[in-house]
Amino acid sequence: MPPAVSQVSLDRHVLVTGGAGFIGSHLCDLLLQRGHYVTCMDNLYTGSIRNIRPLLNHPRFQFIEHDVRRQLHIEDRLDQIYHLACPASPQHYQRDPIGTMTTCVVGTMNVLDLGCQKSARVLQASTSEVYGDPEIHPQPESYAGHVNTIGPRACYDEGKRAAEALMFDYHRVHGLQIKLARIFNTYGPRMLENDGRVISNFIIQALRGEPITVYGTGQQTRSFCFVDDLVRGLNTLMESPASITGPFNLGNPEELSVETIAREIIARTASKSILEFKPLPQDDPKRRKPLIDEAEKRLGWRPRIPLSEGLEATIAYFAMQVASVGSARVVGVGSRSASTTARLGLARKR
Ligand code: NAD
Ligand code: UDP
Repeated sequence: MPPAVSQVSLDRHVLVTGGAGFIGSHLCDLLLQRGHYVTCMDNLYTGSIRNIRPLLNHPRFQFIEHDVRRQLHIEDRLDQIYHLACPASPQHYQRDPIGTMTTCVVGTMNVLDLGCQKSARVLQASTSEVYGDPEIHPQPESYAGHVNTIGPRACYDEGKRAAEALMFDYHRVHGLQIKLARIFNTYGPRMLENDGRVISNFIIQALRGEPITVYGTGQQTRSFCFVDDLVRGLNTLMESPASITGPFNLGNPEELSVETIAREIIARTASKSILEFKPLPQDDPKRRKPLIDEAEKRLGWRPRIPLSEGLEATIAYFAMQVASVGSARVVGVGSRSASTTARLGLARKR
C-alpha cells in the first residue's frame, strides 16, 4: 500500500516519469539511497523492467505502468516530480515522431497539472537538442538555438522546446516550482543494446567484432557525461533553493570527435573491428559542447568521472549483456502488455 502522509513526513515522495529508462532507473537508485519514497512511472516504450528489477521488492519503491500522455492520478502526497518520460535516442524518437511530440507537449502538461494539484516541485529533463545544430560554440544557456523546425529531429527538439515554454508558463501563471535541466549526451550501463546511440552502438559492435558504423566523416563532435555524474546533477538541481529555476546545462565539457570515440572504444575492447563510414543522418549537429559555468557557480556541480572510468564501466556492462543474450537477440524495446506486467507483479506494488 502507498504510505500514509504521516509515514512519509520525514522523507519525500518522489515521482520519476520515465523511471524504467536508462537515466531514470539510475535516478530511482539514487533517490532510494537518499531515503525517499519513489514512484516510477513508465509506459516501457524504450524503458525496460530489467532496469528496475532489483528495486521491485524495495519497501519504498513502486512501479506504475502508465503513459504520461494520459492524465496522471497519484493519491498520495507528492513532493517532487522528475519528468524524464520521452524517448531520447534519435532512432527511437523518430520511430513515432507524432508520439514523441505529444509525449513532450501533452505529457509535460499532464505532469505540470499534477505538480500544481500536489504543490510538488517539477524538474524537466530537457536537452542540448534545444540548441539544434548550434552556431555558437560551446553552448551557453543564453543561446536561443538553431533548430530546423520541419526536419526529422524536430519532433524531439521542438517538443522539448515547447515543454520548456510550458514549464515557465506554469511557473509564471500558477506559481509552480520548476527546475529545468538541459542534459547533454549521457552514457553508461543500462542503455539499450538497440538504443542506436553512438556509445552503445560502438561498444556492442566492437565487442562482437563487427564494423563500427561511423556516420559522415566522423569529425562531428559530442561531449559525453557518465550517468552517475548526471543523476547527481539532476538531484542537486532539484534540491537547490526554490528561487533557482534554471535552465542549467548538465553535461561533461570534454569534447571528442565521433571518430576519436570509435578508436578509443576499439582500443579499450582490444577489438579487431574496422571503421565503416555511413551517410550522416539529416540535421545531425556538427559540434556540441556544454558551457557549465552556471551549474558550477550556482549549484556547485561539475562532472567528476573521466571518460576512461565511465567507458570501463559501460564496456563491462555490455560485455555481460552480449555474453548473456548472444549476438543476435536484441532486448528491452517495446511496450509490454498489461498482462505481462500483472504476471510480473508490477502494477501498484507497495
Ligand atoms: P530512455 O529512452 O532510456 O528513457 C526514457 C523513458 O521514458 C523510457 O523508460 C520510456 O519507456 C519512457 N517513456 C517514453 N515515452 C513515454 C510516455 N509517453 N509515457 C511514459 N513513459 C514514457 O532515455 P534516457 O536516455 O534515459 O533519457 C531520459 C530523459 O533524459 C529523456 O527525457 C531525454 O529526452 C532526456 N535526455 C537524455 C539525454 C541522454 O543523452 N541520454 C540527453 C538529453 C536529454
Ligand atoms: N553516430 C555514429 N554512429 C552510430 C551512432 C551515432 O557515427 O552508430 C553519430 C551520430 O551521427 C552523431 C553522434 O554519433 O553525430 C551522436 O549520435 P547519438 O545518436 O548518440 O546522439 P545525438 O545525435 O542525439 O547527439
